[in-house]
Parts: sequence; C-alpha cells; structure tokens
Amino acid sequence: MNIPSRLAIISALLLAVLLAVLLPAPSCSRTGDIPWAAPRGAAEAGIEEELTRLLDAYGSALVGKDRDAFLATIDPAAADFQAAQARFFDRVQQVPFADYRLRLDSVSDSGGQTVAKVSVSYTLENSFSTYTEPERAAFYVARTGDGLRLAGDATEAALGRQRNVHLEDFGRINFLEGGHSLVFFLDGDDAVARTARDRVDQAWPQLTAVLPGVELPKVPVWIYHDQQQIDAVYPGEWQDWVGGASRSYGGASGGEIILDAGTFTEIAAYDPDYNRKMIVHELTHVALFGVSSARAPPFLEEGLADYVAGFEVSPRLANIIAGGGDPVPSLRDLSRPGGFEVLLDDESAWLAYEVADTAVAYLEEKYGNEQVMALLREFRQRELDQLDQDQLVEEVFQSVLGIGWQEFEDGWRRYVLESR
Ligand SMILES: [Zn+2]
Repeated sequence: MNIPSRLAIISALLLAVLLAVLLPAPSCSRTGDIPWAAPRGAAEAGIEEELTRLLDAYGSALVGKDRDAFLATIDPAAADFQAAQARFFDRVQQVPFADYRLRLDSVSDSGGQTVAKVSVSYTLENSFSTYTEPERAAFYVARTGDGLRLAGDATEAALGRQRNVHLEDFGRINFLEGGHSLVFFLDGDDAVARTARDRVDQAWPQLTAVLPGVELPKVPVWIYHDQQQIDAVYPGEWQDWVGGASRSYGGASGGEIILDAGTFTEIAAYDPDYNRKMIVHELTHVALFGVSSARAPPFLEEGLADYVAGFEVSPRLANIIAGGGDPVPSLRDLSRPGGFEVLLDDESAWLAYEVADTAVAYLEEKYGNEQVMALLREFRQRELDQLDQDQLVEEVFQSVLGIGWQEFEDGWRRYVLESR
C-alpha cells in the first residue's frame, strides 16, 4: 500500500508563502512625487539576502561533508544548539545528499529574537531529481561579530509544533548502495538492509519487463528499527501496512520505500517470501509514481504491484463469481479513487487484492504490458478531466483497448473462472 502524499496541500501552502516572499510589493501607482505607500526597509531586505547565504552555506556544507563549514553557520554562543547540530551532522554523514535546500520562507521578530521560517528538502545522489516533500522548520537567528548565525530551533515557538522526527533522531544512519537502491539503516539492522538491497536488485529485470519505458534511478529505502519509530516519524499515517510501505515525493516522479526492521525480522522467521513480495510490491509503486495519477483506477496500481511481485490466487474469488455473485469490493469499486482506502476488514482487503491481481493478470495476458502502461499514461494525460470517474474509465478503456468497461469486466469474470 502507499501513503497518499499530502504534497498537494503543502505545495499550495508553500506556493502562497513563496508568492508572498518572491513577488514584488504590490505596485501602487507611482505618479509624480507620491512615495511608495509602504517603503521596503533596507535592513529587512538586507537580512533576507544575508540569511539566504547562511542557509545556502549550511546546506552546501552538509552536501560537501564539511563539518567545520557546517558548524561555522551555528552561533558558538548557543552551546546546546551547536552540540545538537554537530550530532545531526555526524549522524547523517553517510547520507549522499546531492542537494540540501533550506529555502527561506519568511523572517520575523519574536520577542526580540529574529526567527527564520524555512522549507527543507533534499535530493540524493544517483536517485530521483525530484526534491523530497518540503518540511517546514524555523531557526532563531543571531547577529555575531562574524555575521548572522543560526542560534536555535524555533520550530515549536514559530510553527506551533515540534519539528518532524527523522531516522537520524534514533542514531547514526548507515548506508548501503545497491545496483538499484540506496539503503539507510541504524546500527543492528544490517541484515535487513542487505536483504532489502538484494531483493530490489533481484526484482529489477521483472520490474522493467512489466513496466516498459519506465526509467528509474536508485530507489531510497529507509529502514526504521521498529513500529514505534515509524509511529514517531509518521504519526497517525501508519495503521494499514505490514512491514513496509512506499511514499511519493509528490512531483512528476520519485518516492521511497520505508521498512520496519522489527516486523520484517519477525515475518522472515516464518515466511521470508512475504518480505520479498512486499519489497517488490512497494518498489513497483515507486516506479509507478511517475506514470500513474489520481484518476488511474487503483486496481491497476495494486494489481501491477502484485503482478511484478508474483502472487497466488485462492479459489475464493472464483467461487463467489461462479455462484453468480459479485465480490465486495467489486472491480468497479476498485476502479474509483480511494477504492482501497475504505476496506473495512481483512476479508475485504484480501478479496480486493485478489480482484486487482486477477484483473491485471487478465489485462497483461490478453493485451500485453505496453497496453497496460498505455492505460496508465492515458489516465495521467486526462488527470484533470472533469468527467465522472466511471465515464472517464469507459472512455480511456475504449480509446486504448478498444473495449468498454462491461466487456472488460465480462472478460475478467471468464478469466477468473477459467483460472480455477
Ligand atoms: Zn500497494
């Protein structure tokens, strides 16, 4: 399963912030000698440029692994903050940042202290060029004899919440590079990290065969030690999955896999193949982030993820169809956005994946993987279409496969009965 990204909302917010920061002041008509209604303070404009340079220096030092340059951006008088930042630098030392960006959103005065609100995002070497979802944070800023310096974490004071928790908050991050993955993990989780790296590499030929035309750089895999850590990093988002999930960066493409080493190790003891399938399933989701869209029938994404991973179908679905019934949820339900998000219990979840898996297997066998990809691309092309979802599905299936929904559903039913 993948976590729906909140990027749409966040980027809307960001855009608003950005527009406020970047657009020139509203140009009141300037005739004769009427002065600007609100003259821009020279000091404010100055501090923004200086601050931007400071934030750039912080990011570049992190990318360049230059500890001295990094700590030079911190106010030496703020001993606790200096120590916390030194620890942060040491813990992310192995992470191959390609870029680390702190974009200045605003500067304000809070109780006599200067506060800079920023949006933090990064890219990784050999991985997606899409930046990670920007995270908002805030710093206290102090003027020292050497210029501006970061002097403390102002996130809670300025944004009303603590800053987000990350893997490095639990310890030093270790790094393993596979042929097709970048694996990040804590001390003690080396075995899970190696397994994850190998599973991604082993799945690659099948992945690229099923998804022709999909270009994928190395996929980041973040391994948390246990469920508790994951709950701290993704509060409230993490109820539904067992062992792993994928997460989209938003943008045109890009995403990452997140694993829970504790659950992974537990499951490995009795069903190692579950872990393999889970990683390949999530890897397929990441590959589809660049192709799929909000309007693509979710059964296509889930079914493809299982198709690449390999799955077995139980006779349960065939029995329901042979009895003249319709599974709940139905294939139609699963063609609508959110179709997988309303599954009420394990039984309906199980059945939903069987429906998706057989529907995709049928499409793959009857029309081939180029056509399945063409379906996804057509849904993406028409993402902003105002049509009702059922109508959109009808039109896309007609235009790509030359058949309507009913014909597809009938063919799928026959396929399920024949594969018993
Ligand atoms: Zn999934």
